[in-house]
Amino acid sequence: MTTLIVGQGIAGSILAIELLKAGIDVIVIDDGHLQSASKVAAGLMDYVSGKRLTKSWNSDVLIPYAKQFYKQLEQELGTSFFFERPSLRYFSTKEQVDFYHKRLEDPKFEGSLTKRNPPHLYDAMLHNDFGACIVEGSSVLNTPSFLLACKQFLEQNNSLITEPFDFDSFETLEKGIRYKDILAEKIIFCEGYNVCKNPYFKGLDFRLSKGDVLTLDIADLPQEFILNKDKWLVPFNSMFRFGATYEWKTINCTADQQGQDELVNDLKGWLKLNYQVVNHEAGVRTAAKDIRPVFGFHPDYDNIGIFNGFSSKGVMTVPYYAREFLKSLQSSDNKLSSEINCKRLFLNRIHH
Ligand SMILES: Cc1cc2nc3c(=O)[nH]c(=O)nc-3n(C[C@H](O)[C@H](O)[C@H](O)COP(=O)(O)OP(=O)(O)OC[C@H]3O[C@@H](n4cnc5c(N)ncnc54)[C@H](O)[C@@H]3O)c2cc1C
Repeated sequence: MTTLIVGQGIAGSILAIELLKAGIDVIVIDDGHLQSASKVAAGLMDYVSGKRLTKSWNSDVLIPYAKQFYKQLEQELGTSFFFERPSLRYFSTKEQVDFYHKRLEDPKFEGSLTKRNPPHLYDAMLHNDFGACIVEGSSVLNTPSFLLACKQFLEQNNSLITEPFDFDSFETLEKGIRYKDILAEKIIFCEGYNVCKNPYFKGLDFRLSKGDVLTLDIADLPQEFILNKDKWLVPFNSMFRFGATYEWKTINCTADQQGQDELVNDLKGWLKLNYQVVNHEAGVRTAAKDIRPVFGFHPDYDNIGIFNGFSSKGVMTVPYYAREFLKSLQSSDNKLSSEINCKRLFLNRIHH
């Protein structure tokens, strides 16, 4: 029988592909990326993240798995959307420099943080007040290219319907679910921040943050590095994506002046070169309070599932957990670790 997936962001796309590869019929319903974090994401995967240069959670497991996954998928789909490239990490405070020296002593950072400085030619391009280093092991998913390749793959398999999901046309049956004239065994919601409007999952404690991103044409900046100074400059086609803001109060996908002003202002203190703003987009990150993925099945409906909560790390996290989700679907006991099982959020559900 069929599994219905709602949402074709990174989460829905990869879950659908894993299920199809395992021989499970899938239909994905997506509204044409109307509210998509994936579409605007820089697509970065990095072992070292944040202002304190911390090691990304579980990155020694998640990143190698994700790299292998994207490379193999590129081959299978005959297109390219993934590249590996070192980062130049510019420090923005003295405190960050101290963290850097501390981390250099820590074996956890071996293979990622290095003692090497950016090449001298970058001195003419970027302000460097507190120093910088090269970070190895970074990679980037070109998310629009990836989403397009997945969309085409799903279309070729007659597995994609482009429309907003209509809850009035949905019902649970004794065995399975019905959506319009589709009978399916299960439905799995991968709706990103739209989960907050989902009648089965709303009230769960998700933390939402809006992020604005600019696409910049910086003709004189080479594309050999990912650049990072609290915000990132990521090679994107022949240009760069620059972002992102974190806005916790106004939650929507509208690229607004406030976001653009913050980004332009930050860029002024870093980039010495001329540039042109080519595009401005915004998306919303969805995270559980504990910043762990949220998946599994509803405690009251064992055929209504969720795959969400990927916060600002969907690119590295989704491939591994899509496989874990598939494994749990294939096993008879459906066991999921309590660390990521959506049932943990129902314990603190807010009832409206
Ligand atoms: C500015 C910004 C920068 C980011 N940078 C990075 C980064 O560098 N690296 C990284 O790993 N992560 C990054 N992230 C986070 C990353 O984008 C997310 O973790 C990931 O994209 C989440 O994917 P998703 O599929 O869960 O949700 P989404 O990408 O939001 O996908 C949900 C999809 O479902 C569709 N949908 C929703 N509701 C319905 C409905 N009712 N009917 C039909 N369709 C529906 C939406 O239109 C969308 O296509 C960033 C996020 C933002 C906002």
